[in-house]
Amino acid sequence: MSQKILKSIQNVPATFIGNNTNWALETISIDSRSLQNGPQTLFFALVGANNDAHQYIKDLIATGVQNFVVTYIPKECEGKANFFVVQNTLIALQQFAANYRSLFNFPIIGLTGSNGKTIVKEWLNFLLSPDYNVIRSPKSYNSQIGVPLSIIAINEQHNLGIFEAGISTRSEMDKLQEIVKPTIGILTNIGTAHDEGFVNTEEKISEKLKLFKHVEVLIYHKNKIIDLIVDSEINLFSWSFNDKSASVFVSKKSVLDKTVLNIEFGQEYYEIKIPFQDEASVENAITCLMVLLYFKYDEKTIQNRMELLYPVEMRLKVKNGINNCSIIDDSYSSDFQSLKIALDFLESQKQYKKKTVILSDIFQSGLSNDELYTRVSQLIVSNKIDRVIGIGETISAFEKKFVNCVSYKTTAEFIAKFNDLNFANETILIKGARTFQFEEIVALLEEKTHETVLEINLNAISDNLNFFKSKLKPNVKIMVMVKAFGYGNGGFEIAKLLEHHKVDYLGVAFADEGILLKSAGIHLPIMVLNPETTSFPAIIQHQLEPEIYSLKGLHAFLKIAEQKQLNQFPIHIKLDTGMHRLGFEDNTIDDLIATLKGNQTVKVKSILSHMATSDNLEFKDFAYAQIDLFEKLSSKLMSELQITPLRHILNTSGISNFQEAQYDMVRLGIGLYGVSNDAEEQKQLENVGTLKSIISQIRTISKGESVGYGRRFIAEKPTKIATIPIGYADGISRGWGNELGFVMIKNAKAYIVGSICMDMLMVDVTDIECLEGDQVIIFGECPTVSYIAKKLNTIPYEILTSVSQRVKRVFYR
Ligand SMILES: *Cc1c(COP(=O)(O)O)cnc(C)c1O
Repeated sequence: MSQKILKSIQNVPATFIGNNTNWALETISIDSRSLQNGPQTLFFALVGANNDAHQYIKDLIATGVQNFVVTYIPKECEGKANFFVVQNTLIALQQFAANYRSLFNFPIIGLTGSNGKTIVKEWLNFLLSPDYNVIRSPKSYNSQIGVPLSIIAINEQHNLGIFEAGISTRSEMDKLQEIVKPTIGILTNIGTAHDEGFVNTEEKISEKLKLFKHVEVLIYHKNKIIDLIVDSEINLFSWSFNDKSASVFVSKKSVLDKTVLNIEFGQEYYEIKIPFQDEASVENAITCLMVLLYFKYDEKTIQNRMELLYPVEMRLKVKNGINNCSIIDDSYSSDFQSLKIALDFLESQKQYKKKTVILSDIFQSGLSNDELYTRVSQLIVSNKIDRVIGIGETISAFEKKFVNCVSYKTTAEFIAKFNDLNFANETILIKGARTFQFEEIVALLEEKTHETVLEINLNAISDNLNFFKSKLKPNVKIMVMVKAFGYGNGGFEIAKLLEHHKVDYLGVAFADEGILLKSAGIHLPIMVLNPETTSFPAIIQHQLEPEIYSLKGLHAFLKIAEQKQLNQFPIHIKLDTGMHRLGFEDNTIDDLIATLKGNQTVKVKSILSHMATSDNLEFKDFAYAQIDLFEKLSSKLMSELQITPLRHILNTSGISNFQEAQYDMVRLGIGLYGVSNDAEEQKQLENVGTLKSIISQIRTISKGESVGYGRRFIAEKPTKIATIPIGYADGISRGWGNELGFVMIKNAKAYIVGSICMDMLMVDVTDIECLEGDQVIIFGECPTVSYIAKKLNTIPYEILTSVSQRVKRVFYR
């Protein structure tokens, strides 16, 4: 491995500056926060819109990293490590990966398409791994950065690769083609996703086809547009439900919960069963089947393996566990590469110092078991894992390679001993191959609550944060408002993520909220917007920073500050410039100055004000008057007190509408959670929360019968009614009932009939094929929180923060 990494980097055009050529490169990294960085890491310092990794090089050298790919050498790092200086580190990463790929010579399947890439990849891995040592991209690592990172996991023992490539705009695919150099091409469902970056479908397809420039065969669902534009040199292997000229003709019928496929392939006829009925799964399964046919598998093997296909769980989920544990559920795969990713995720999400990993045997590493478990053990050590629980014959045999490890030969053996293991106050990563059925372990460890959950997409939060960061001028800091339990989305978990993203400040409404965050281990400075006088001692004790908005409050705080002999304790001065809620008014500024002058117990960290109309350009003049007054009053404070605090006045809609008033910091709130009142901006934000439940019971009522309290719904015809266990006590407004509101079941609208009850509501599912236990979406992508708010004559803020605390929050990426 190390020779190949060295060779690949040496063939990237770069100026080498360094003298330690005692190379032992085993891996590459682009994440400065990964605990896996060390002497064997080649670190690529990528430069993003909001983050320049060059600033972390100094710290990385201190942790032992010796080799860097950079665009410049930071002054304080000169002579302290090896540097490959290049023009653009992302391009260098891609060239490096392309070089690395060229050192291997075995079939590589390249997948692209709009939908289904990751599922097809995972299924192909399942179908082919009995016969091949497969290397595949982890999760959905399919971007301009993800693909290079996937490629470098190839090693000498692999003999088949499966890599996915995803693009969002023109001209990206050429680069990915050079990196993956697939020999077998697969185009999955072409759909309508990501159409924004392209003029039309033709352009999108022809861009995707660039991945297949040099393949020996292209496998695809036959389609006229593709046939017209695909390169005539390429050998095509297509399938179709209706076009007999396709290489493989398929007809299907549903039988119970399965689909039977009849395959006509040349002179041959097969009948194959797959355990799915939905269109997307059937299409993805046929794509996999095509690969088996191309690889000339016999009928029996194809039948046996296809029947075992399973739903793929691709997400790492964070769940609340028993005894105050938090669980990271990755119970569907176990390979070395995905273990690395899961351990990084564990570090970024851990809620408790103590970290436990429950790990099954690892498959398909391509390494000997001895070497594999040595590496796994090194990885565990570098991630500072406190205890390891190994499950499986092989990992048990290598138990002594780990420190503080217990092992069990089977999952059942572990479950029998479960109560002796005393899981409490720790973060537990559960990582196992499917065959180990670790979902049983998850079920044991998971806190039991009712079936309604609010799912929070942490990636969407990261993306939304980056979206707003990209609107900021250089050096403008960002405070994120996590008041009201992160606008209903979860306080601690979101704060933890924000800390990971290095935002500058957090804002909460009351001291209690800040104390909770600090006690849970959040180190970011936290401003308390509305501190009550009685909470000042607690604020001081927990190092929170109060917003001071009146002379009365200031005197009260100073009194305590003097008693406690504080020195330069950070406070924030709020000015009232027109909102008329909290803040010093124009006529109190002189008293404020007189009180603060010469006082050493406190330090004015920032001066802020809040806008009343930043979201509505009809009131632009009013907004500018607020900004002008803020400028005037804050300047006066600064010059008379001779201080240079941070100044900030913009909330989310202010960031978008009043860029010139960003001052030193902005306060991001609702935008982080995926809501904007501007239609254009809304399109660019990602949905964060999805409120989900299930169907408890289904019944059919006759014409004239009624549903619910007060008989507010009377059936006009035989009507199928489903009951959902969520009601106004969970935060669903009663106004949303009586056929104004709807929920989504199987992608169809089911209107709420009758009045919403305290813990339940009923919906009309007459035209929806659904069963008891099926999933129900209350809000999320559809209906959106904004849509519901509009219909109920309120604002999204109220809908989000109303979801009650008894609804369990589940976080995932
Ligand atoms: C809540 C709040 C914000 C954030 O507002 P959004 O509209 O959610 O961005 C900013 N500043 C103050 C003082 C707030 O109370």
